[in-house]
Amino acid sequence: MSAASSPLEQTKLPDATGRFGQYGGIYVPETLMTALEELTKAYELARDDAGFQKELRHHLKEFAGRPTELYFAERLTEHCGGAKIYFKREDLLHTGAHKINNAIGQALLAKRMGKKRIIAETGAGQHGVATAAVCAKFGFDCTIYMGAVDMERQSLNVFRMRLMGAKVVGVDAGQKTLKDAVNEAMRDWVTNVRDTHYILGTAYGAHPYPMMVRDFHRVIGQEARAQILAREGRLPDELVACVGGGSNAIGLFFEFLSEPNIKMTGVEAGGRGIARGEHAARFAGGRLGVLQGCKTYVLQDDDGQIEPTHSVSAGLDYAAVGPEHAFYRENGRIDFAYATDEEVLETFKLCSRLEGIIPALESTHAIVHGLKRAKALSKDKIVLVNLSGRGDKDVQQVQKMISA
Ligand SMILES: *Cc1c(COP(=O)(O)O)cnc(C)c1O
Repeated sequence: MSAASSPLEQTKLPDATGRFGQYGGIYVPETLMTALEELTKAYELARDDAGFQKELRHHLKEFAGRPTELYFAERLTEHCGGAKIYFKREDLLHTGAHKINNAIGQALLAKRMGKKRIIAETGAGQHGVATAAVCAKFGFDCTIYMGAVDMERQSLNVFRMRLMGAKVVGVDAGQKTLKDAVNEAMRDWVTNVRDTHYILGTAYGAHPYPMMVRDFHRVIGQEARAQILAREGRLPDELVACVGGGSNAIGLFFEFLSEPNIKMTGVEAGGRGIARGEHAARFAGGRLGVLQGCKTYVLQDDDGQIEPTHSVSAGLDYAAVGPEHAFYRENGRIDFAYATDEEVLETFKLCSRLEGIIPALESTHAIVHGLKRAKALSKDKIVLVNLSGRGDKDVQQVQKMISA
């Protein structure tokens, strides 16, 4: 085993240039280099400062609602007839998903850096809502960029953001969705970098974002580890999480990377199946490329044009995946699978009926795979699924697609 692939070495990544093996790095216009360097320095100081960590813990508890429970999904376990299924309940957090962990962390960092204004991109609106909430709480001026098509599809989230005082700016370029909103946020940042911090919403983009966002979500795995040890007296056999950019997954997995006997699986959006434009499973249909700040797996055509994507869940619907996941996939530490829209809708109903928990469509991708694994494993095994968010935001959309 080479040094870079030994589990303990892995947890020291990225290297000083922001790389995870050949993935990651910094691919941005010259005008953003100074801002990213300033951010990296400020983040590393904050990370190692006990005062910052104490303040972070305080707000995670009081504002976000941490720690979240570890929940034994008893009836789903019975239904599958195999391994015990546990859920890490990130769906119970304020604003409905794990995203608030990172939004609080970056807002505190922005405060420390003396920034007055915060910008963010959002697709489905979940990250926009989390960002608007922390901006209201900490008194930042807030602008959220959102594709015009997404604004139409997620009008309730646009209203939520505006209620909390955010300015929501519609983006009319390109496909008018998430990728175009990211471009517009970058443009704003280049222009206003002196007083503005950009809260990127997932473990993606140029260094230090993939590292920093991961670190703000590590609390998920730290809690889960202590909770399963208290409950079962041992660590789980398998971990499962859905992967959009990859933040909830790496937040859970990171704490367990150096446990060689724990299998970890990231679940991508299989959409209507693995054919061009029908899915967002980057590891099933993508290849190495550069998109919006880093080198990673990207869905692209032969000319390097970004392919359109599809998923029933807006939060997994992006053409590229976080660089750290590409690295762990390459060296075999994390496996990847996908769930189709059809499987997700079926399991969305099943989980609601058997557990009284309506999961986010994104998280349901992880449940689909978790149930498959539980069926394949014996009753003395444990599968821990990250329930990244709640499904309240999805019920109207699902109502149009199925009958209860
Ligand atoms: C945004 C979102 C995701 C996908 O983002 P990651 O960065 O991959 O975690 C997953 N689940 C929920 C509930 C989300 O809101």
